[in-house]
Order: sequence, then C-alpha cells, then structure tokens
Amino acid sequence: MLQRVLIANRGEIAVRIIRACKQLGIETVAVYSLADKDSLHVHIADEAVCIGGNAASASYLNMENIISAAVNTGAEAIHPGFGFLSENSTFAKLCEDVGIIFIGPDASVIEKMGDKAMAKKLMIEAEVPVVPGSEGEVSLEEGKQVLAEIGCPLLIKASAGGGGRGMRIVHHESEFEKAYYAAKQEAKAAFTNDGVYIEKLITNPRHIEVQILADRYGNVLHLGERDCSIQRRNQKVIEEAPSSLPDTMRNAMYEAAVKAARHVNYVNAGTIEFVVDEHGFYFIEMNTRIQVEHPVTEMITGIDIVREQLRIAGGKHLKHEQSDITFNGHAIEVRINAEDPKHNFRPNPGLIEMLHVPQGLGIRFDSGIYTDYEIPPFYDSMIGKVIAHGYSRLDAIRKMRSILEELVIEGIPTNQSFLTMILMHPDFVKGDFDTGFIAANLEGLLTYET
Ligand code: ADP
Ligand code: ADP
Ligand code: MG
Repeated sequence: MLQRVLIANRGEIAVRIIRACKQLGIETVAVYSLADKDSLHVHIADEAVCIGGNAASASYLNMENIISAAVNTGAEAIHPGFGFLSENSTFAKLCEDVGIIFIGPDASVIEKMGDKAMAKKLMIEAEVPVVPGSEGEVSLEEGKQVLAEIGCPLLIKASAGGGGRGMRIVHHESEFEKAYYAAKQEAKAAFTNDGVYIEKLITNPRHIEVQILADRYGNVLHLGERDCSIQRRNQKVIEEAPSSLPDTMRNAMYEAAVKAARHVNYVNAGTIEFVVDEHGFYFIEMNTRIQVEHPVTEMITGIDIVREQLRIAGGKHLKHEQSDITFNGHAIEVRINAEDPKHNFRPNPGLIEMLHVPQGLGIRFDSGIYTDYEIPPFYDSMIGKVIAHGYSRLDAIRKMRSILEELVIEGIPTNQSFLTMILMHPDFVKGDFDTGFIAANLEGLLTYET
C-alpha cells in the first residue's frame, strides 16, 4: 500500500482525498498557493508545502514546483484530483519519469482519451456508439464537407475542451465559418490548443455517464450510471444516481463503458460520458480522473471511489466482482457555488461569516469552507457539494430541500436558493427534463426572494 501521498489540488476535492488517505493510514502532503495558506486542506494534511503565487498557473499548474514538493517530502505518489493537472498527460509522464506514481491511468492513456477527437476514433474502433460527426479534428474545408454530410444543427467542439467550454452550436449553414473560427479562438485561449472537431447536435438529450474502476490486472468494473442533465452552459449543476433509463438501455451502456475502458487498457477510476435521446446513446468523452459528482455513486453503492483509486495505484487488485455491486436507494448532489445567479451567475468570493450545515442520516457535505474562511478570488467558484441519499428519488429530493432550507452560508451570495427552485420545479420532480432544463426555465428559477 502507498505510504505517503501528495495531493496536487485545493478546495473540497483536496480535503476529500486527504480524508480518504488518512482512513487508509496513508500520510498526506498538501500543496498550496500563497492565497490558500489558511485553507482547510492545508490545515488537515500531515505536511503542507507552498508551491507558488496566487494564480493557478504559478501554483496548482506549476508542474516543476509540485514534483519538487513531492520529491522533497518523500511522497511516493501524487493524486491530482479534478481540474488543474488531472488530465495533463505531460504531468503524468513527468511523474513516471521521476518514479512517482500518478494516481490515474498511464500518461499514454490520458493522452489518447484527453484528446476528445482522438478518443472518439478509438471508441468507433471499440464499437461503442458515438455521436455522428467528423473523424478527428477538421480544417475549415473538411468541416464544410462534414456540414454537407450531416447538416445542421451541429456542434463545433474543442479537442482539448473541458468544463463546458470551447463549444459552438451551428443552426444554419451560413453561420458555420464564423462559428468555426470563434470555437478555434476560444479553444486556443482556454486550452492553448485550437484543434476542433464536429458533432451532430443531439436535440434535448440527457447526459448519462458510467463510472468505471479498473486495476492493473485487467479487471474492469462499472459502478452504475449518473444522470447529470441539469446543466448551465454545458456545465453540471445537479447530478443524481441512478438515472431513470429503462433497464435494457442502462445495461447496454454499462457494457459499452466497460468495453471502452478495456479497449484502451484503462487503469484506475474513470467516467464514460454519453448523451442519450429517444433513439439511443452516444459516447461524447471519457474523463480520465475522479469527477466532481462521484459522491452520488458512492452513496448508492457504498464504495469509496477515492479509496479504490488509492488501492489501485498501490498495486492492489479490485476488491469487488461485478456481481457484488448493488445499488441502494437514490442519491442527489448539488454544487454550491460562490456566485450570484441574479447577476448572471457572477462569481462572488469573500468572507464566510457563518457556516451551519445540517446533519443526519444520508446527508453529506463535501467542502473546504468554514466559518471565518475567506474565499480567494483566483479559483473556481464551486465551494462545496451537498449530497442527499434517500430510499427513493422523491425521498432524496425532499431531504435535499430540507437541507438547503436549513443550510446557512453567511457573508457571500451563493446559488443555494436557485438550487432549491430547481428541486421544487414540477418537471424536475417528475423527472421530465433534459440538458436544456435550466435555460428553458431560467426566468422562473430566478424568481426566489433574496
Ligand atoms: P466537456 O469536456 O466540457 O465536459 P462534453 O463533450 O462532455 O464537454 O460536453 C459537455 C456537455 O455539452 C454535455 O454534457 C452535453 O450537455 C453537451 N453536449 C456535448 N456534446 C453534445 C452533442 N453532440 N449534442 C448535444 N449536446 C452535447
Ligand atoms: P466533471 O466532469 O467532474 O463534472 P468538469 O468538467 O465540470 O468536471 O470540470 C471540473 C470543474 O471543476 C472545472 O470547472 C474546474 O474549473 C473545477 N475545479 C477544478 N479544481 C477544483 C477544485 N479544487 N475545487 C473546485 N472546483 C474545481
Ligand atoms: Mg464532459
């Protein structure tokens, strides 16, 4: 088993990983930027190393400083969390080169699957259904050929995309060229890589994804699916497990996800993402890391996914067989953001004057905040996640509503009331929604009192 792990991340996921390490008796090394010196992850780790200035580029993306911190503190492995360097194959390779275990798949697998255009090619090889579109990245001329073949509406997507960024919808042929260059420019600015590919726009889809675990010995398991269709600007806001898909489709998706993971010799935890419409399901991408929404799967399976990541990285075999995995009840997660929904969801960091979190059976709060904590303005606005586990979907919804009613985060605006409005919406309660739900209902969802 691993002895000492460095966590190359911040916020709630760093706290989450440090706790999992402690429960396994693994020593922890936190890293932090100047702005994060008072962060919870710094306080609870066994040791903490400052890796640079406030900007992520100076600290959490500073590969040399992170590797030096690991070497100097004798950490034998690095857990990258999500975001930051988690899907950076150069970083994973650097770890391999200096003999540090990167807690994730091999660098070569990240490279293949992190390039979304290339990943789709591999999935076609593996006979996993993909969204129709271009074969890999396209030039303007090639893009126009694809446009002629599949028609509108279509999506131009960044190969290096993530977090819902780098995507442009084209509704009419005449918009294509402008959208092509706009997507390229946005991709270049956000990911320093301007490669784009094309997909048919699946109308009114649901986003359903399958959680995978794989060890070094060829064993691959799935832990069921999550429905992450409640999104704003292609970024998830509320996630739940299980989905409401019929069993035949659900089982076919499990099979496709396991096949996908096997095809690339996947190791560690990963997620295969699909969009689903009335005709079928289509692969969109693989996330080669732990995901923000992993807790809903943990709640219904009773499996600690971060613990499994650490075990797998330490060379252990998967502890479970597929037939051991059972699903119990229903879990919902909401992402709490330091933002003001009424002002176009403007990020709004600041001082947390008071924090009160309700407790109880099936309630979980994953966060890095505490009373008197000052949220720095330099990073993502997600400050925590509330997870509710109930006997049924309705039970989980009711539990989540009551948690959000009691939860107090004073000092900064958050999306707490906005989330409640979603949980109260009759279509959400009925399960009648797709990825366009928030956009279609935005006006009503913003009518809460402040
Ligand atoms: P990211 O890397 O930013 O997560 P994804 O490819 O996973 O990008 O897409 C993010 C979201 O965008 C999806 O969850 C879905 O809502 C929407 N989306 C992506 N591709 C399509 C598509 N071909 N048709 C319809 N919606 C899509
Ligand atoms: P997932 O597919 O897991 O939902 P996303 O594609 O939404 O993940 O990307 C992860 C998001 O989390 C990104 O928007 C990223 O900016 C953000 N992020 C990265 N690291 C952290 C962190 N430590 N705390 C909060 N948010 C983070
Ligand atoms: Mg995605």
